[in-house]
Amino acid sequence: MDAKLVQISANSIKKAKFNKRPSLKQMQRAVKTLIAFAGDDPEREGVLDTPKRVSKAYAELFSGYGQDPQEILQKTFTDLSSYDEIILLRDINFYSHCEHHLVPFFGKAHIAYLPNGRIVGLSKLARLVDCFARRLQTQENLTTQIIDALNLYLQPRGAAILIEAEHMCMSMRGVRNAGTTTLTQKFSGVFATNKEEKERFFALLGERDKK
Ligand SMILES: [Zn+2]
Repeated sequence: MDAKLVQISANSIKKAKFNKRPSLKQMQRAVKTLIAFAGDDPEREGVLDTPKRVSKAYAELFSGYGQDPQEILQKTFTDLSSYDEIILLRDINFYSHCEHHLVPFFGKAHIAYLPNGRIVGLSKLARLVDCFARRLQTQENLTTQIIDALNLYLQPRGAAILIEAEHMCMSMRGVRNAGTTTLTQKFSGVFATNKEEKERFFALLGERDKK
């Protein structure tokens, strides 16, 4: 891979650093403002502790900023290095937040790769999805960042990813089209250059529907 290309990818997916985080107090004050803006009384008993709860929830919902994809993919199984067939993890559930409206979008990610001597634990792929999903996102960038991290840190012969998600900003507001699913996909290496490998990915995904 071109050195400059690797640099660009690494910059877009590395552990996010933002040093201008407000204090907990400032955050909770902002939540109060949002409650008032919605039309409710932030001093009402039912929502009095809401700012505290929201700050706690945020720590979990956006924990991806504190996770490093390189660290997640670092540990590989050397005793499995002779396995060179396709590895597919399907139905990885994820929950993310749309960066345009701060409302959730959620769904399933399906990831496949053809290893090149480096194989990670299956749970690591789920953690990789989580690491990027638990940030403010677009589905397109989520798809790209996951496959970029795989290529950069695992260097497989090829990788394939398909994400299907429902966006609350579409279901609850705007066109209010509940149940609509958005699909995004991305391929690299042999999955991008070899039509048969790409078809094999979709065939393996489809196996589920036959059962
Ligand atoms: Zn949105």
